[in-house]
Amino acid sequence: MIKYSKLLMQSKPYKTMLTDKTHGMLGHCYMLICDDQVACSNLCTLLARLVLCDEDGCGVCRSCIRVDNDSHTELIRLTRYNADSVRDFVEYSYYSIGEGNYKVMLIDAFDKIEPRLQNTLLKTLEEPCDGVVFILGTTKPSGVLATIKSRAKKLYLDKFDDATIALALRQEGVEEELVQKATVCASGSLGRAEKIAGDPIFIEAFSTMIDVLTSMKSSKDVVNMLAKMRLNEVELSVYLDALEIILQIMLSRQGGKQEDFEDEDLQQVVTLSATFNNAMIVNVHRLVCDSRKKIDSNCRKDFVADRLLMGILEVKYICRL
Ligand SMILES: [Zn+2]
Repeated sequence: MIKYSKLLMQSKPYKTMLTDKTHGMLGHCYMLICDDQVACSNLCTLLARLVLCDEDGCGVCRSCIRVDNDSHTELIRLTRYNADSVRDFVEYSYYSIGEGNYKVMLIDAFDKIEPRLQNTLLKTLEEPCDGVVFILGTTKPSGVLATIKSRAKKLYLDKFDDATIALALRQEGVEEELVQKATVCASGSLGRAEKIAGDPIFIEAFSTMIDVLTSMKSSKDVVNMLAKMRLNEVELSVYLDALEIILQIMLSRQGGKQEDFEDEDLQQVVTLSATFNNAMIVNVHRLVCDSRKKIDSNCRKDFVADRLLMGILEVKYICRL
């Protein structure tokens, strides 16, 4: 089932491909580049639907419905990224088209294919059979070989603004009380908004980290906060993600962005930003980056969390207003 179709059909990549199709100028290879995997996957499928539909992606014909249900015989997806799957995928592109005028070959996370295997696709992308259209998506264009990129028509999906994300979440039935928090925390990414709205653990971590920044006054508070962080059940990285987003919101307030929030936690971040200067925000952010590095090098998480909280206390003291 395609999500966010109304929104994504208004996007520039979709409109570009629609124009190409209506002018009979459909290329044989497109690459969609954006930094949001949820938007990328859904838009790739919409582009496939557009190519295969006789009415330019109407959404209601038999062809469109089968694309929506992932049962269209002329839509071939690469779902695994190993050598055998890539080889089979290439071979499928040479089978004759069974119905209609087109066959779509879709890979929505192209950078997951290792470079050596990407190379094996080169010749096929350059000279595919008549009517075959490759739709390649990536959120990490640096992971795609330059030779592949140069063979594709590139389509860029911009970040979404807050109003658009909020509308998309409401259309997907997200509870109203979560919409504002998820929207603000997502900074333009549909995937992040969706994850936050559906993740009570993140919401809890968000509140806890606001508490860390607001109420920690002495090293005695560090012990209490560590207990509150439930590190046995929740990954430390979730707290770091939450803290990083809080810092981003605070920084945007320092820059003079002045909206008020109905959401209690967000409003608390706004209040908090009045007591933090830029030096504090930057230094706490540095602590977050250090903590991530320590996690990557397998340091114990309770030790990393302890250092983080002590560090925040120190920053609050040294950089105080
Ligand atoms: Zn249709």
